[in-house]
Amino acid sequence: MPDEYLQSKPELEDYWRGIILFGRNVASYKFALANALLDIKPQSGQLLKLSDLAPVYASKLVQHLKVSPKQITSRSSNYLDACRLHGIETPDQNKLIDETVKSGFNNVIDAFHVVGQDQLPTRFYTDERKTNKGIRITDEFSALLDRVKNGNLSVEVESRWNLVETAWGLGIAPTLINIEHDIENQTLFTFDQGLRRKSVTSARGALNGYQKGKCFYCRCSIDIDNGLTTEVDHFFPHTLSRDPTFAMINGIWNLVLACEICNAGVGGKHARIPTLNMLERLEKRNNYLISSHHPLRETLINQTGKTESIRREFLNTYHNRALSRLFHTWEPQQNDADDF
Ligand SMILES: [Zn+2]
Repeated sequence: MPDEYLQSKPELEDYWRGIILFGRNVASYKFALANALLDIKPQSGQLLKLSDLAPVYASKLVQHLKVSPKQITSRSSNYLDACRLHGIETPDQNKLIDETVKSGFNNVIDAFHVVGQDQLPTRFYTDERKTNKGIRITDEFSALLDRVKNGNLSVEVESRWNLVETAWGLGIAPTLINIEHDIENQTLFTFDQGLRRKSVTSARGALNGYQKGKCFYCRCSIDIDNGLTTEVDHFFPHTLSRDPTFAMINGIWNLVLACEICNAGVGGKHARIPTLNMLERLEKRNNYLISSHHPLRETLINQTGKTESIRREFLNTYHNRALSRLFHTWEPQQNDADDF
């Protein structure tokens, strides 16, 4: 299936999200670097020395190591051992920074802009380690920060990071990970081997990578950090769960991010069933997540079917059954653009 996400007229934020969502994940260094850059907010043209980048970068990894010891797919890493020792066991900030400058960036600065097999045409920094012991920030990085609310980007990186480390940490085949939605806390959770509930990530961050900061229905801009104006919405209304034959209503396949007007405003969806137009959009969204390397991919396949035609049939049947219970259809009045 073609990768529409990167083919349809990519904007700067598409490239950035491509890096976060599609890069190969052998270790979590890329996430640490991405969020260090978002924290530091260096200016266009600025030389960011490794020694200045190191404290923020290392602290991101240390924070994650504290909760999820598994941050790499290989058995061990000398650098992560150093993070554990100097960041957690016997904290020593100077040693941590020295180790980070020495070996912490070896596998990430070159690889950061690689998506699939190739380097992206757009770069957020250039490598000046040989000449200036650092990286040079490009106009593109500054422009990215101007275009997208920085909070949203950090939340997305954290969500992706949490999902990836959960998959590694559980040490089970990704196909066994089933992620569900907790309505009260608005988090996604799964079960560990002892069948204890384990909170994975905020539902908002995990879903927003696809929606790019827009309402699923009307495509107005939404602020995913703000739980008052952005709702995690059940495409097929949650009220259907009163009928036990409507399975998996809390599954990720049925969750989208919506503005408060579409969710529950005047003229909003409430307990109505979105039209076939909207259903097609949901199908496209789910297929997109499945075609990406997202850990949610396996969950979606488990919930809705192995092939595109089975999933289409699943949605179509669900739609007809939902209409036979709630009768009324809905779509937003304002709905211009064709794509996110
Ligand atoms: Zn809306």
